[in-house]
Amino acid sequence: MKFKILAGLAILALLSACGEQAANTDGAQNPVKAQTFKWKLVTSWPKNFPGLGTGPEKFAKLVDEMSDGRLKIKVYGAGQLVPALEVFDAVSRGTAQMGHSGAYYWKGKAPAAQFFTSVPFGLNAQEMHGWIHYGGGMELWQELYAPFNLIPLAGGNTGVQMGGWFNKEINSLDDLKGLKMRIPGLGGEVLERAGGTPVTLPGGELFTALQTGAIDATEWVGPYNDLAFGLYKAAKFYYYPGWHEPGSMLEFMVNKTAFDKLPKDLQAIVRTASRATNQDMLDEYTARNNHALKELVEKHGVQLRAYPDDVLLKLRDLSDDVLADVASKDPMTQKVYESFKAYKQNVMEYHSLTEQAFLNARNK
Ligand code: CA
Repeated sequence: MKFKILAGLAILALLSACGEQAANTDGAQNPVKAQTFKWKLVTSWPKNFPGLGTGPEKFAKLVDEMSDGRLKIKVYGAGQLVPALEVFDAVSRGTAQMGHSGAYYWKGKAPAAQFFTSVPFGLNAQEMHGWIHYGGGMELWQELYAPFNLIPLAGGNTGVQMGGWFNKEINSLDDLKGLKMRIPGLGGEVLERAGGTPVTLPGGELFTALQTGAIDATEWVGPYNDLAFGLYKAAKFYYYPGWHEPGSMLEFMVNKTAFDKLPKDLQAIVRTASRATNQDMLDEYTARNNHALKELVEKHGVQLRAYPDDVLLKLRDLSDDVLADVASKDPMTQKVYESFKAYKQNVMEYHSLTEQAFLNARNK
């Protein structure tokens, strides 16, 4: 009996030693695993901007730790290497290996890209994550970006945004007529149908544009980010809800040629770190937005306003028209729209019995 135990321990010790030896020599004998990579990541946000800008910084740190320093990623703020709205082109041509931005900025290159940020009266963050990762959205997004030599990955989510900053009250749809407002993507197209003039500006230019009167109104993200830009100093009415961006997903994009050069484990690390960053950003916004809103209202005297119900209903009708029109213009956008629409119908039905019913019950 004693002999058997001793023999067993000896065998275990031997196996264990073999295992260690194999592990120790693996890196040295495998040149692929010994190789280190240095990447650049360009973004559309000011360096270290709360949430949007700290997301890619956390991503780079996570990749460094997970890869034990084999993949080093240097993050650039908007304008440091390329301007905010040239991230797509820069990563496509390989000036940087990665980018972090919002897909709706690229509607001029691929109209369907707008569906991968947010759709007016579309999906909230939870629903959007479901469509992207389990509802066919990611496969369509990959198909859309493939001709640009890009691989898209989820890069964060803001949750339901705020409706924007105005210097006059919005009491009817007519109040939007002639209004020059910064509002990108499909939301901008809806504003145009309502008689307004949408403009797309990077975040870093919003405050000055609003303060100088170059624009009459702007939306940005939500209290946590809008407070950081000091938008309350240039407009007094803060509208909700953000009907135009109910769950905006940020994106990482990877140059495919660079991605293909990575060994499989580093590819998995990039994918996994993007999923972690995606959820982390939503968690941060969820925890911090309400504190920031209290500060805006209590410390800075911001006046909160709800969009009137009839204005929201009319905007919803206009949104349906915009989506159908945008989709009809090219087959790829039609395909994305059909997938989005079918998923939305399904998830709406289920969430009316669960998330929505619960929130109604809780808030009674
Ligand atoms: Ca926004």
